[in-house]
Amino acid sequence: MPSAVRAVRVAGREDGWYRGDCHVHSVSSNGGELTPERLADEARAAGLDFLAATEHNNADTHGTWGRCAGDDLLVVLGQEVTTRTGHWLALGVRYGQVVDWRYGVRDEVVDRWLAEVHRGGGLCVVAHPHAPYDSGTFLYPYQGFDVVEVWNGPWSSDLPWQADNEAALAEWGRGLGEDIRQGGWRPAMGNSDAHLSGQIGVPHTVVRAGELSTGAVLAGIRAGRSWIAGSAAVELSFEVSAGAQRAGVGGQLECRDEPVAARVGVRGVPSGVVSFHTGRGKVHAASLPGAGAGTVEWRTGAAESAFVRVEVRHPGGDMAALTNPVVLL
Ligand SMILES: [Zn+2]
Ligand SMILES: [Zn+2]
Repeated sequence: MPSAVRAVRVAGREDGWYRGDCHVHSVSSNGGELTPERLADEARAAGLDFLAATEHNNADTHGTWGRCAGDDLLVVLGQEVTTRTGHWLALGVRYGQVVDWRYGVRDEVVDRWLAEVHRGGGLCVVAHPHAPYDSGTFLYPYQGFDVVEVWNGPWSSDLPWQADNEAALAEWGRGLGEDIRQGGWRPAMGNSDAHLSGQIGVPHTVVRAGELSTGAVLAGIRAGRSWIAGSAAVELSFEVSAGAQRAGVGGQLECRDEPVAARVGVRGVPSGVVSFHTGRGKVHAASLPGAGAGTVEWRTGAAESAFVRVEVRHPGGDMAALTNPVVLL
């Protein structure tokens, strides 16, 4: 137990951007084929700085992750709570903690378990809300959850669940303006839901954090200081400015009547399409060159929208990266 506790509190490097996959299954979940050691090896090979262990309804691997973590790989303890009417991720649970999963929306008990995770400093994430299989479709209100997993597994038009990711993203994007007006919005995240070799990190969430520790990473995710990458080959920077004011992803920009410039830099998406999205939908799009690196700028104002966010798609339409919004005040 002590080694695992130490490992999950490893404080690695400094303030920066960290890549992590927060929905990962080992042999301790149905359908999982990899040991924790293999998952950690594959996480490192995929360019990740952290992962969250989210077995189905058990803490059986909590004692193992301490051996797999290190200064270069943080392991956040978690669980995928697979209830009868939707799955959710508890991230940052205590060592050995198991969150109850034996209920559905009509039992009206989910709030109790969300509160329990929150009391321990953890995050509650809506998992793959539009998954079409039995129990996978999310029927709870989003109220009480901190984050929505809008991108689960590879975003590929060859795969049947691409429509489910599009539905989750569209729903999240539609609600953003109203959520911001009401004083709170729920950040998006992306995770692989890896069960097999070669899956971890596709996609993952890139988080701005004060250090590589469970507390700092979860704080960054909760605040929306993050964007989602299809792989570690994709790099992105996003900044919005008005006069001398600047804000990055997840931040707020006090622009009042000043013109606003939104600027995104991308690498690793050959001939990709960068688009800006506001409360009015897609407002601007531009193509990247064949080499895959470029900067796209768009000008707006707070009168036009309460937020601006970015998507980057491959030429065929599959997602390469997407960001949380910058809020315009
Ligand atoms: Zn699930
Ligand atoms: Zn899962």
